[in-house]
Amino acid sequence: MVNNKIQTAEENLIHVYNRFPVVLDHGKGMYLYDADGKEYLDFAAGIAVCGLGYGNEELNNALKAQIDKLCHTSNLFYHESCGEAAKELNRVSGMDRVFFTNSGTEANEGALKAARKYAYTKKTGRYEFIAMENSFHGRSFGAVSVTGHDSYREPFEPVLPGVKFARFNDLDSVKALVSDKTCAIILEPLQGEGGINLATQEFMEGIRKICDDNDILMICDEVQCGMARTGTMFAWQGFGVKPDIITMAKAIGNGIPVGAFAMTEKVAEYSLQPGDHGATYGGNPLACTAVKKVIEIFEREDIVGHVNKVGPYLAKRLDELVEEADCVTERRGKGLMQGLALSRPAGEVISRAVEEGLLVIQAEGNVLRFVPPLIVEEKHIDEMIEKLKRALA
Ligand SMILES: *Cc1c(COP(=O)(O)O)cnc(C)c1O
Repeated sequence: MVNNKIQTAEENLIHVYNRFPVVLDHGKGMYLYDADGKEYLDFAAGIAVCGLGYGNEELNNALKAQIDKLCHTSNLFYHESCGEAAKELNRVSGMDRVFFTNSGTEANEGALKAARKYAYTKKTGRYEFIAMENSFHGRSFGAVSVTGHDSYREPFEPVLPGVKFARFNDLDSVKALVSDKTCAIILEPLQGEGGINLATQEFMEGIRKICDDNDILMICDEVQCGMARTGTMFAWQGFGVKPDIITMAKAIGNGIPVGAFAMTEKVAEYSLQPGDHGATYGGNPLACTAVKKVIEIFEREDIVGHVNKVGPYLAKRLDELVEEADCVTERRGKGLMQGLALSRPAGEVISRAVEEGLLVIQAEGNVLRFVPPLIVEEKHIDEMIEKLKRALA
């Protein structure tokens, strides 16, 4: 039987996304094109995913070649690309052991389990997590349990017990929650969804010290702020404060669904063992080919150096808007992960930007979020500012 209520294919989907009224068709470099050929300058990068922009020929060719050879083996079989991608990811992230997932949510889910297993093996009796207000770690039960937005959690309660929320950048609020039951502290060094809030140096160092003093694990969620976005390969390196576990996804595959959590040897020794965790697709040859190639291109093209060159230019141009436009109250962020706080509804500005051919997205707290492909150049930033000014007018 045909359901007559379903008029377009989209109505077959569960309606959970507030989508842009644009149907994208293809992309090249910094630009996306809709089905009618209209051009959009992209400052969203598929939510900080497409660091290398669109249509990178070298990456596409590597993926095509791997598709023709082998896409999937399951983890019952080792594939060379998996170990190689892990080796590269460890080298650039400073960790020692990697587990590949299919998303950022799954990476956080695995990190929480890894921390629990560490405590279990050491028989510390520690099981609680301390997370931050305004954090975002994903939508599965574990990940949503440590996400600091009531509206994301409440409809699904009871969620994971033993999670406490501290105020971001308020070390005393963290200390007040630490107990002999605390297993791990999870935070984003630069909060994305929560409004582009950068951790202070003191906060990162303070968390590290609390963890060191109490055998608590420090988990950094670098799903959004990792992969060169803040001007170091991973955001923790910008602070020189090394976590015990980091979670990654988004830009590590440039659009091929892949995530990972990684840990130091100190954690790995007591954490996940054969049989403790798994993922059928996790780290399959296609995903790992993407990770390997993305890291190779990032290093050869010195994307980190490029972010440090254009990031300050983006910040400067956005600072000018804070001065010029009454409705722009503050800029925050680091590198190519920037936000503008507005005193008028960000949604309206975003809609007008789309009409102008500019894609920007929102973050919590009425913030315009700028997370362009990392290949963005000054001329694109100038073009973006012109379009944004018209959208703000
Ligand atoms: C996007 C995001 C996630 C969730 O990643 P998915 O791939 O959507 O599951 C987790 N943490 C942070 C910081 C993110 O930005």
